[in-house]
Amino acid sequence: MIFLNSLARHGDATLFMAKEDGVKSLYVYGSGEAYDAPDGEVIALPGGNVKRCPLTNQNARVLRGLFPFTRPVSHKGRAFTLGLGDRLGLASAGHIRLIRDRDVFPVLAQQSIRELNLTGRTYDDVLSAAVWAVFQEGYRKGYSADGDHLKTREEVKMALDCGFTMITLDCSEHIPNGLAAVVRFAVDIYNEFIRGKDIDFELSVDETHVTTSPEDHYFVARELKKAGVELVSLAPRFCGEFQKGIDYRGDVREFEKEFAVHAGIAKEMGYKLSIHSGSDKYAVFPIIYRETGRNVHIKTAGTNWLEALRVLARVTPGLFRKIHTLALESLPEAKKYYHITEDVSRIPALDTLSDAELPALLEQDDARQALHVTYGQVLAAYKAPIYAALGQYEDEYRAALGLNIGRHLGD
Ligand code: ZN
Repeated sequence: MIFLNSLARHGDATLFMAKEDGVKSLYVYGSGEAYDAPDGEVIALPGGNVKRCPLTNQNARVLRGLFPFTRPVSHKGRAFTLGLGDRLGLASAGHIRLIRDRDVFPVLAQQSIRELNLTGRTYDDVLSAAVWAVFQEGYRKGYSADGDHLKTREEVKMALDCGFTMITLDCSEHIPNGLAAVVRFAVDIYNEFIRGKDIDFELSVDETHVTTSPEDHYFVARELKKAGVELVSLAPRFCGEFQKGIDYRGDVREFEKEFAVHAGIAKEMGYKLSIHSGSDKYAVFPIIYRETGRNVHIKTAGTNWLEALRVLARVTPGLFRKIHTLALESLPEAKKYYHITEDVSRIPALDTLSDAELPALLEQDDARQALHVTYGQVLAAYKAPIYAALGQYEDEYRAALGLNIGRHLGD
């Protein structure tokens, strides 16, 4: 199957992507740099040679060199930006189809170090997956790449060296030492790596137990401004709970009041609020969109993992049962990295459910949370069958993603 949207010319070469026996490759025919540069095997055909190139990181780098639209870019000045971290590297094509005709600028590559460790991927892998999706879909409107929740200068350097265009500096660990410590760390990183470059700089303090008061937000913002730090976005820890994979928990009216003040500070300071763990927060999206006028950054990540599992529950119930069992076993380990408040006793026992009832587990909050945070252990055990099934059911996965992300955008 040829991906028709991928057809592209470069000099005297024509390039496209196709899937054969479940494997996607880049095909090049013609001549010139675009034919010579990628690694691949030459297939002799009557009309001339065709080169079949595997979707490697090296070939993705070649593609970025040949086609500027495949390179991530800064999203400064874009109103509504949406982080669509793609944990498996299989969701971006679906994400692109959903947002391409909307007023949404996508951050297709977005992973934290924690996610890299748990999925066994590198920033090169993450960016390459986005590059291939962009090329496959012929998407030319631009996208960004976010090194999410980076905590050290080494991590920041690694993400930038790989070509990432956004740095989310996680200052949560500096909070106990006081806000001045937070500011000093952010200024140092900014001066060393960001100043003068076309890199989007976000500061995040969302992963602490302490709610960020508007006063603290204002203090940090003012000090950073004084130091000449240009923030693109800032992620406070809002009141209530933004837990993974489930709706907002807390007092919505209290959230509304505080959010309005945070939004006012961000607007005055010239950056956007960034909403982390933004997946499935349907109770507060209307407030967020209204108070920011849709000038806001929202990060979603694990939701595409849950949608992948929803597809697996439907098409490979046997595999899903194994995944679900392992997820429950792995929960104590996973909770070292993720703050969730699930109650496993509320999850229906697997052996009481028919195959047809399995997808409904993805509607149950406790099961959602358990499945959301245990991807590391699940992938370590079942990576190959999961990728094989999602490769085979690509259209079903795309449809599921469309429904889910569409709902985030207010469909
Ligand atoms: Zn976060």
